[in-house]
Amino acid sequence: MKIIMMGAPGAGKGTHAKEISKKYCIPHISTGDILREEVQKNTDLGKTAKSYMDIGKLLPDDIIIKIVKKRLQKDDCKKGYLFDGFPRTIRQAELLDTISDLEAVIYLKCQDDLIIKRLTGRRISRDGKIYNIYFDPPPPGVDVYQRDDDNEEIIKERLKVFYDTFTPLMDFYKKKNIFFEVNGDGGREVVLENIFKILDGI
Ligand code: AMP
Repeated sequence: MKIIMMGAPGAGKGTHAKEISKKYCIPHISTGDILREEVQKNTDLGKTAKSYMDIGKLLPDDIIIKIVKKRLQKDDCKKGYLFDGFPRTIRQAELLDTISDLEAVIYLKCQDDLIIKRLTGRRISRDGKIYNIYFDPPPPGVDVYQRDDDNEEIIKERLKVFYDTFTPLMDFYKKKNIFFEVNGDGGREVVLENIFKILDGI
């Protein structure tokens, strides 16, 4: 199964993607996670990535396309994959089209005020579990950190960038009849169930 999870930052893409990846046994490919790993390792790519990520801007398409092409060559992608945070531009979508036969694009639609609460409250444990200080606080003793770009000013810029680029992408995938919208405002289980209903039907 070859899927894209689309949605504004904080819509819950990462959280749901992990469950989808488990259920359908496909790798969860998050370009944001790949870039954060490079930043952590302080590689040349990481240094470049940080300069864009710190201000909530998108990296140049050529860099992202190179990363994705390399990732898709790995053996675990043979049976399919789930993209999270990619494609973010029409150029990225067009490139993906030449190397993949996508089956579904799931768009998690969320209200902005909820998104801001989810992102400002998001905390991540060292083993990658996502918590939220408002809705799902980390248990006492669990060491968590906050992403550098999860502060209100940068979140507003990331949301602006998302909405600027989302409409053309939505039109692109609607034309291909593989675009599905899911209400992402509900509880985790309900949203996930609705996503599974769509994916089980394709
Ligand atoms: P995310 O974790 O998906 O919210 O991504 C965090 C940041 O990484 C974004 O704000 C961008 O700076 C960068 N990034 C991730 N994916 C892409 C992409 N497909 N195209 C360009 N920049 C990206």
